[in-house]
Amino acid sequence: MTRTTDLIDEAEAHSAHNYHPLPVVVASASGAWMTDVEGRRYLDMLAGYSALNFGHGNRRLLDAARAQLERVTLTSRAFHHDRFAAFCAELAALCGKDMVLPMNTGAEAVETAVKTARKWGYRVKGVPDGRAKIVVAADNFHGRTTTIISFSTDPEARADYGPYTPGFEIVPYGDLTALEAAVDDDTVAVLLEPIQGEAGVLVPPAGYLRGVRELTAARNVLFMADEIQSGLGRTGRTFACEHEDVVPDVYILGKALGGGVVPVSAVVASAEILGVFRPGEHGSTFGGNPLACAVALEVIAMLRTGEYQRRATELGDHLHRELGLLTGGAVREVRGRGLWAGVDIDPAHGTGREISERLLARRVLVKDTHGSTIRLAPPLVISKEDLDWGLDQLRAVLAG
Ligand SMILES: *Cc1c(COP(=O)(O)O)cnc(C)c1O
Repeated sequence: MTRTTDLIDEAEAHSAHNYHPLPVVVASASGAWMTDVEGRRYLDMLAGYSALNFGHGNRRLLDAARAQLERVTLTSRAFHHDRFAAFCAELAALCGKDMVLPMNTGAEAVETAVKTARKWGYRVKGVPDGRAKIVVAADNFHGRTTTIISFSTDPEARADYGPYTPGFEIVPYGDLTALEAAVDDDTVAVLLEPIQGEAGVLVPPAGYLRGVRELTAARNVLFMADEIQSGLGRTGRTFACEHEDVVPDVYILGKALGGGVVPVSAVVASAEILGVFRPGEHGSTFGGNPLACAVALEVIAMLRTGEYQRRATELGDHLHRELGLLTGGAVREVRGRGLWAGVDIDPAHGTGREISERLLARRVLVKDTHGSTIRLAPPLVISKEDLDWGLDQLRAVLAG
């Protein structure tokens, strides 16, 4: 027995088996590297599903968190605190919007967006009570709450959790004709990921997001972009919607907003939209807490420099060029934008899980999704040398 197997066995015995982690037990991390309990180092090519865009133990983020820890960490929204105004104003400015509604996890932000759209629909658009409809895409991933899995098409995410929340219509992703047919007078919002992360980093056909923007604007329907994974630098832009020069009505943010330090999420929109809430109508004990605001303010300041977006573009071009050279062989298809790739492996070379385990043996950490797809999303602070080393390991695994 090793310390690794001991700790895994103990975790298995005492935690619900709702995950199947790779057999590595992390003890510390810095930048793009993690160290396990045996002292072995691994290159992190997942970055907490983009929650760690700025890397592990980022100095600026830790300093901001540490300073705030010493002052005040939680007030609840019953009182004001001195980091809240700046956080809301600066996040709204980053998004080109007026207002922010802070929450904690991504799923909470999506739930908040759903409630926002319904309330806006009844109060502003004039949809008859109880009839609001939200159109979503097949193969979406928006989180794990009962309402959100009600409009998932993934049987694993949905089975045994009914009865399901009504009020959602699912259309194929990337299909504007189907979307247009689904939008009716009771439709209050279209909710989409500008790039579908969990589905395997699916980039919609060119012109799709622009088409969604035009259709929703013409039909007085909110376009709500779930940028929880695609946003905040990952694709080489602050928001993935920017690749089509599209500004949605509602941004849903999370993951990297908390800098990999604390959970921070938010819904960001105009005052006309978020102005529908009155005191008591929605909330969260931890949402917008001082520690969260302090860390997120630093994240926003880092994004304002454009440095991380530039790195994602440059390293992403390199990543996609190198992965492109593998297609036709063991790699069937590569998708993505910026420092983000979904790589479909020829199943003859193994399942995504098997490839991930072989990469683990070579000290590279990735996560599989759906059969023989692996996704690569290293922290944006990764060096080109480390990225190349990670790619060398992938090539070696696929050759073996
Ligand atoms: C991760 C994710 C969520 C859910 O975020 P949690 O913080 O895990 O609740 C929602 N939408 C997208 C696109 C995500 O990637």
